[in-house]
Amino acid sequence: MNQLTLSTDLISRDIQPVKSQRKPAARAYLDKRVTKSQSENKRTRSQRARERLRTKEHLAQLAVGLGEVELAHKIERCHSRLSVLTCGRHIARIIPNFTCEFRLCPDCGRRRSRRLQNKYLPAMGAFMLHNKVTPVHLVLTQTHRKESRKQSVKRIRDAFTKLQRREFWKEHFKGGTWSLEFTKDKNGLHHTHLHIIGFRRRFFDTELLRSEWLAVTGDSHVLHLKPILDLAAGLREVVKYVSKPLDIRRFGAADLKEFLGLKNMRMFGTFGEFREFCKDFEPSDNDAAAIGELESLARDLVEGCACPQCNQPLFDLRMSGKELPQFYEQVESSPPGEVRKSSH
Ligand SMILES: [Zn+2]
Ligand SMILES: [Zn+2]
Repeated sequence: MNQLTLSTDLISRDIQPVKSQRKPAARAYLDKRVTKSQSENKRTRSQRARERLRTKEHLAQLAVGLGEVELAHKIERCHSRLSVLTCGRHIARIIPNFTCEFRLCPDCGRRRSRRLQNKYLPAMGAFMLHNKVTPVHLVLTQTHRKESRKQSVKRIRDAFTKLQRREFWKEHFKGGTWSLEFTKDKNGLHHTHLHIIGFRRRFFDTELLRSEWLAVTGDSHVLHLKPILDLAAGLREVVKYVSKPLDIRRFGAADLKEFLGLKNMRMFGTFGEFREFCKDFEPSDNDAAAIGELESLARDLVEGCACPQCNQPLFDLRMSGKELPQFYEQVESSPPGEVRKSSH
């Protein structure tokens, strides 16, 4: 472990759900949090790990092309050596040698969105209980114009600020979170969307909200609104844009250049009464148990501990980041009950 930088949040989410002896606090919105995302996501972990490697290669190449050699080097180094705690059939924890913290890095993005989920999920659950509000996922869009990404972001955020000042909004919403999603169309126009988890005080007709949005934007009325039945899944859906703000496959050198110019732009935030609530919120033991059970469990694991899933001893496997997809594959194809040791 000597050359490894240990950090408390470098925990693999790839650990599968463990039946807990301790019953988490009974809260309808916090249930099924891990199992659901895994069943929903059809790609295997090895496929996703391969995609992350490809994205990083692509980013590093673009950076070299722009003369950003140091950035390219950091991206290449990030997660290049791993310490994997495994029983041979399950991966309990992955500790990388180095993290680049570059905003478009998919490995660092995963960690960032995990941190946001751990931070905000307990606060959201508590806020809902205190205020008798229900969460909705609202996507606000705007018309496309010839403008820079920065201008596009400013335009939609300004409109949202205006929306929040309106009586209709105040009557029906009690704050929430926002995050930004960027896309670009075939014509190279920026599309910026605001994904909002809004805590709704009472029901309203979506058409009314549409006309409010039109009133503040002047020309945009397109929005989507859906109830959030599972808060954890809803939060995961909006924070994924923090880790993946745009489709990297269509991302060229000019995009990277523009993105580097946006260094300090916020991608996620809270607003309204929820914002105030978060300032004073300290999770209670129950909140922590409901949310962080797997996290805290994985965080304490070291070589020699029992695998949380099968009770076999964990050993520390060193590998390069490039070997991880293959290792996932091996783990995915292991028949249950049989412990297979890797030859690494
Ligand atoms: Zn990174
Ligand atoms: Zn195991």
